[in-house]
Amino acid sequence: MTMLEITDITKDYGASRALHPVSLSVAKGEFVTILGPSGCGKSSLLRIVMGISQQSGGEIRLAGQRIDMLPPERRDIAMVFQSYALFPHMTVEQNLRFGLRMKKVAKAEQQRRIAHALEICTLAGLTGRMPRQLSGGQQQRVALARAIVMQPNLLLFDEPLSNLDAKLRDTLRHELVALHRRIGATSLYVTHDQAEAMAMSDRIVVMNAGRVVEIGTPLELYRAPKQAFTAGFLGQTNLLAITASGRTGQLPWGQPVDLATETSGPAQVSVRPESIGIRACDQASGAPATVAGVSFMGASALYTVAVGDTVLKVSQAGGDALIEPGRTVALTFPERLPVLEDRGREDREIEDQGRKDRLRTPEVA
Ligand code: ADP
Ligand code: MG
Repeated sequence: MTMLEITDITKDYGASRALHPVSLSVAKGEFVTILGPSGCGKSSLLRIVMGISQQSGGEIRLAGQRIDMLPPERRDIAMVFQSYALFPHMTVEQNLRFGLRMKKVAKAEQQRRIAHALEICTLAGLTGRMPRQLSGGQQQRVALARAIVMQPNLLLFDEPLSNLDAKLRDTLRHELVALHRRIGATSLYVTHDQAEAMAMSDRIVVMNAGRVVEIGTPLELYRAPKQAFTAGFLGQTNLLAITASGRTGQLPWGQPVDLATETSGPAQVSVRPESIGIRACDQASGAPATVAGVSFMGASALYTVAVGDTVLKVSQAGGDALIEPGRTVALTFPERLPVLEDRGREDREIEDQGRKDRLRTPEVA
């Protein structure tokens, strides 16, 4: 069942468009992440869903009902912010109770929900503390507990882990996923961190310059991205220009490869560094490939390999017998290469224009 349905939402700040028509849906119980670079419109979209910012156009439905004209407190949505946004003059317990009292939840039920949230967010013993007496990680747990007690139809997260150090971020990421599994809350999560998105999400919505670029599971988007932007933003890749004819393409140095989709003319393929095989050899058959550099990464070795005018990134697992720079190598490519979709020149021009607009627009409150 669809819990959240966002249809053609747009947002203009003065003359500049921060969101082009954006549409996406989240199924009941699903964990969906919006992933994109800073400034692409993630927070704008989330704030509109929450109701703390007004959309310029489009509709939002939650559990089948239009909500985009309701005030935030009547939307049955809770949001967790990067800045925690706890009430500074209230204890942990008062922070959790506040929304429940506003909603006139019965006292016994308040008690039950607060106790439960404290337990699953591992906050026992901190109920009497003020926010300033808590660490960043603890404050973020309180913010999460405060959202959970409301038992909302939808939980929104705007980069909730960005202010924490790397180790704590990792711990809380796992806790969040475990928590999501346990309570099964429908969640829409925003981040610019691709590793976070890959690790946490049922599906990822890739955004760039105020538009949805592509939607899919982490595996789909990593293994078979349709857009060059997705391929480059999720992990590392080699974007190669090819000349295609039917199911055959020619790599920049003339080597023929099989293509996963029928294509004609100039096109682009994405080849992941770890999907290229590399071994040292005395004489390469075909185009000569030479190791230009190697970085030992622990579990793997990352090579830069020159083939004609092209420089490829090639990653090899293990990496205990490094191939020296200068050596000739033989490369093997995946069986069939997926071809990226060309979105057309017009689309790219609009996107470039959008980027320029945003650079010009001053922030207003
Ligand atoms: P993200 O959360 O992905 O970093 P935002 O939604 O915050 O992106 O911002 C998207 C674009 O809209 C940016 O170019 C930003 O400068 C602009 N923007 C955001 N909020 C405002 C505002 N209140 N007034 C004017 N421009 C804004
Ligand atoms: Mg943001």
